[in-house]
Amino acid sequence: MLNNSIFKKIIDKKTKANIIYEDKLVTAFEDIKPKAPVHILIIPNTFIASLNDIKESNKDIIAHMLYVSVNIAKQQKISQEGYRIIINCNKNAGQEINYLHIHLLGGKKLNKI
Ligand code: AMP
Repeated sequence: MLNNSIFKKIIDKKTKANIIYEDKLVTAFEDIKPKAPVHILIIPNTFIASLNDIKESNKDIIAHMLYVSVNIAKQQKISQEGYRIIINCNKNAGQEINYLHIHLLGGKKLNKI
């Protein structure tokens, strides 16, 4: 698993990324290797390594990340046709970046999982 520095650098504006939304809690930017016409990553501004690190004290961030993802899907005009939200957790799911992130995918018919 790669370390978290690349997403932290995006939040800190030390690495270039196509940021499409940000607020006090989350940042959303285009995936560098898009797997669909719309492929956006939504991350918390405060570091969380993976879903396994969600606990009572930080669980509200998940709701906000999902809420922002849905709003972005609407703004990107993929909500009516449909889209997919994925969170990979650890190696069996293929999580490569050690920083919690939602994948928002859409803009084409996605292979059924
Ligand atoms: P995962 O496999 O779930 O950890 O997803 C990590 C995602 O981060 C992959 O889809 C990568 O293409 C994406 N990614 C890696 N580095 C960057 C970057 N600098 N900017 C945007 N997306 C990135």
